[in-house]
Amino acid sequence: LTERTHQAQRMESLGKLAGGIAHDFNNILAIIVNYTDFAIEESASNPGVRDDLTHVRTAADRAMSLTRQLLTFTRGDTVQPQDVDLNAAIAEVRAMLERTIGEHIALVARPAPAPLIVHADPGQLQQVLLNLAINARDAMPDGGSLVLEAGTVHLDGDEVSLQPPLPAGAYARLQVSDTGEGMPPSVAKRIFEPFFTTKPRGRGTGLGLSTVYGIIAEAGGAVNVYSEPGVGTTFRIYLPLAEVAGAAPVPARPAAPPDGD
Ligand code: ADP
Repeated sequence: LTERTHQAQRMESLGKLAGGIAHDFNNILAIIVNYTDFAIEESASNPGVRDDLTHVRTAADRAMSLTRQLLTFTRGDTVQPQDVDLNAAIAEVRAMLERTIGEHIALVARPAPAPLIVHADPGQLQQVLLNLAINARDAMPDGGSLVLEAGTVHLDGDEVSLQPPLPAGAYARLQVSDTGEGMPPSVAKRIFEPFFTTKPRGRGTGLGLSTVYGIIAEAGGAVNVYSEPGVGTTFRIYLPLAEVAGAAPVPARPAAPPDGD
């Protein structure tokens, strides 16, 4: 457990450092974008220069979207937690994915039988699901299936795979599974570190899962991963259920799936 706490602290300080750098970079990039736009306007008579400047502008845009990703979990002021139904979150993300994920991947949504209310920022939740789904897609270049699932679960408080650890109680659980290439333990244990990526240069930022981790930990939840090379990967997100009048009753421990957590 001590090692786990250490790891959590290390990620937190790395995250803060990255957030500070991202903030400064964002300001610098805003200046670059501004002056590039001026220069593009002024280069109307010189197509060659105009072309070059357009490349600068595109690169600056990419850099800004990267820093924006970093800032989402370090700048708390834009986060507006509210009661959100995870079933609705899954439906929205499913609709977005249907257009982008490609026909070689079967997309399956398994919502919970009743609304599943948690207290979180809806935009951040969507980002969590999208980041997990995009990684799943990248892990299945030759096709496969991607399953988004929501449900409730009772935790005993001694689950060692959860990062960070959670007290015993009833939780909402979001699951994102793929039948992709999976990962060896040496990769799986580093995936939540900011900037850790196995993707080729220019393809991966290594920020997707550290963002997921930051958002979920901030919302009082936890995450774990099960992966087997050649078989696939399952991410599970646990979030405290919101106290809502008329909410669905949570099944007691024996009714939870016998999946070891
Ligand atoms: P990025 O996607 O930019 O590499 P992430 O933080 O999202 O950054 O992911 C870090 C690494 O975790 C990936 O490079 C990949 O090696 C591994 N990974 C994440 N999701 C999966 C998955 N569903 N299947 C296999 N490997 C994965």
